[in-house]
Amino acid sequence: NNKEWQAAYSVIEQLENAGFEAVIVGGAVRDTILGRPAHDVDVATNAMPEEVKSVFNHTADIGIQHGTVLVIVPAGSVEVTTFRTDGQYTDHRRPEEVQFVRSLQDDLQRRDFTMNAIAMCRDGSFVDFYGGRQDIEAGIIRAVGNPQIRFTEDALRMLRAVRFSAQLGFEIESATLKAIQNKAADISWIANERIKAELDKIWTGKDVFKGILMLEQSSLANYLPGSFEAKQWCDFKAHHKLIGWAYFAVLQGECWQDVLRSYRLSNKEIGFVRAVIAALDALKRGWSNMDYLMFTQQELETARYVAELRELSVHIPQQSIPELQAQLPIKHQKELVVNGSDLLTWSGKKGGPWVKEALQKMLEAVVNGELQNDRQQIKEWIEHEYFHEG
Ligand code: ATP
Ligand code: MG
Repeated sequence: NNKEWQAAYSVIEQLENAGFEAVIVGGAVRDTILGRPAHDVDVATNAMPEEVKSVFNHTADIGIQHGTVLVIVPAGSVEVTTFRTDGQYTDHRRPEEVQFVRSLQDDLQRRDFTMNAIAMCRDGSFVDFYGGRQDIEAGIIRAVGNPQIRFTEDALRMLRAVRFSAQLGFEIESATLKAIQNKAADISWIANERIKAELDKIWTGKDVFKGILMLEQSSLANYLPGSFEAKQWCDFKAHHKLIGWAYFAVLQGECWQDVLRSYRLSNKEIGFVRAVIAALDALKRGWSNMDYLMFTQQELETARYVAELRELSVHIPQQSIPELQAQLPIKHQKELVVNGSDLLTWSGKKGGPWVKEALQKMLEAVVNGELQNDRQQIKEWIEHEYFHEG
C-alpha cells in the first residue's frame, strides 16, 4: 500500500520535472480523506499519452484510447491518465471516445460525485472545485453538476451512487436521489456484468442494509432482476461477495438460478451458491455423514449464516467440517477402493444409470460405517445388493 503511494509520488515528481502537471485523483484521494486504506493510486496529468511514454523508460499501453498508460517504476506500477473530457454519450453508457484536455478542472468536472472529483498534489494540498471534502465530512454522495444530466449521460453512475452508500454508509443527497428516481429505468441500458460488479461491492459493503434500502428507494431495484427485500438485509455483513450472492439467491426462492444467471455469474460462482443452498437444506433436514463429506467449511459457514439471518431454526453442527470429516471412515469420494469399471467387470452387465446409483449407495454405506472400504467386502455387498436380485 505504502509502496503504491511511493510509486505514484515518484511518477508525479518525474512528470513535474519534465514540465508537466500531475496529481493523484479518484478513489485514493477520497479514501485518504476518509482515513480508509486506499487501493489503486491513480495519477492524472496534462501530458498527452505519448508524452507520458517519453518521460519513462518502462510503460505499457493498457487503455491508450482512453488516455491511460501504465508506468512502471522501481516502487511499483501506476496508471497515468491524461486529463480528458468524455465525448458524446450514446446509449446512456460511457462514451467510447474521449477528448484529451490540458485543464485539470475539465477533467474533474467529468467525474461522477464530488467526493470522487478531488485532486491531491504532491505537496499534500487539494484541488477541490466541487466541495468534495465538505461532502465527505458530512457523509454525502452528490453528483458533480446537474444530476439529471449526469445520469442521462451514463446510467451506471446511479448504481455507483447506491454502491458507495453501501460501502461508505453515506447518504445520497436529495437532488441526486431524485434524479436517480427519475432516470432509474435507464439502468436497463447497462450490461449485466457491470451491474454485477457493483452488486459484488454492495454485498461486501459495511452498510449493506443502507445500500439495499437505497436500491429500493431510488427505484433502481424495480429495473434489476430478482427481488431485494431491504428488510431482510438489516443484519447482513459479508467478507466475501459470494456470501452476498448466496443470501440474495435464497431470497429468490425456486427461480434463484435464472436470476443469478441473468447477472452473468460464472459457473463456478453458481456452483458455490448451489452448494450453500444444498447445505442449508441439509441443516434443515438434520445433518448426515454424507453431508459432512460433501460440503466445504466455507459453504457450511455461509449456510449457517444464512440460516441465522433468516431465523430458521436448524440444527447447527458445532464442530468444524475438517474435524467432522476426520471422524468419517473416508474423507473423500475418491478414497473408495472400488470404481465404476470394477462394477462392470464383476457384474458382466452393461453400463447404465445403475452404475452411478450403485456407487452412490456404496459410498453412503461406507461413509455411514455399514460397509468397510475393502474390495472383497464391497464385492460381496454389491453382489448381494445388486447382482442377485434379478
Ligand atoms: P473504488 O474504490 O471502487 O475503485 P473509485 O472511485 O476509485 O472506487 P473507479 O471505478 O476506480 O472508482 O473510478 C476511478 C474514478 O474515475 C472515480 O473516483 C471517478 O472520479 C471516475 N469515474 C469512474 N466511473 C465513472 C463514471 N461512470 N462516471 C464518471 N466518473 C467516473
Ligand atoms: Mg478505483
